[in-house]
Amino acid sequence: MRLKKSYGQHLLKSSGVLKKIAQALEIEGGDTVIEIGGGTGNLTRVLLEEPIGKLYVLELDEDMVTELKKIEDPRLEVINADASEFDFCTLGENLRLVGNLPYNMGSLIIENVVFHHGCVPAGVFMLQKEVALKLAGKGDISWLSVFLNTFYEVEYIMSVPPRFFVPPPKVDSGVIRIRRKEELPQIDLERFKSFLTSLFSMRRKKLRKKLSEEVLSKAGIDPNLRVEQLSLGDFLKLYNVYEV
Ligand code: SAH
Repeated sequence: MRLKKSYGQHLLKSSGVLKKIAQALEIEGGDTVIEIGGGTGNLTRVLLEEPIGKLYVLELDEDMVTELKKIEDPRLEVINADASEFDFCTLGENLRLVGNLPYNMGSLIIENVVFHHGCVPAGVFMLQKEVALKLAGKGDISWLSVFLNTFYEVEYIMSVPPRFFVPPPKVDSGVIRIRRKEELPQIDLERFKSFLTSLFSMRRKKLRKKLSEEVLSKAGIDPNLRVEQLSLGDFLKLYNVYEV
């Protein structure tokens, strides 16, 4: 099988890491799981050793879909789809998501997960290490790290070096686990996203260049701060004042 760089195909070969990813998902008997980017099925097979009720695998590459369909298991359903646009909630109300994500699409897929948080209580994802660290609050803050952390607790699970993949990627990888928060803000996700992306553009500028004095004072935020000095709660506070 020829691997395609444009699809971010780096197959995970370490059975130890595959097992850890599957176990980090904390599957309970009968759970519905969606795997993103099944590839040749390395993770798929390990997931099927868990007490899963139903496993959907989303895969963009038709050649890989053909490979995945060779796995015989009545719990498995392979879907040829783009996980960055797919409406996960069409597959259930309580879904665990997992995947060794294609690195060029990782952020877009995480963004799509947040848009569907209503039906996704938990997930485990392998991403480029730098992105994984950021999302877990261990690197520079980004609009996406704020977006994700508003709805999920994010935990950094482990780093995985390039030699565990075929072909080895140029960068290290990192695995994160997300668990949906108990208290979720009832906000319009598209609007919250555009609020965040506009705050994070020209990120070195002070907040007073980006938001009105009125919004900042109502939210009780110092106008001379920069976006990276705000806490998670500050973003929501500002958004709620801004949206009124
Ligand atoms: N899970 C496998 C393969 C990981 S490589 C393993 O760990 O070995 C990432 C996989 O995601 C590739 O098979 C690639 O074809 C697929 N992919 C790339 N972009 C995608 C997208 N937008 N939606 C779904 N799958 C995608």
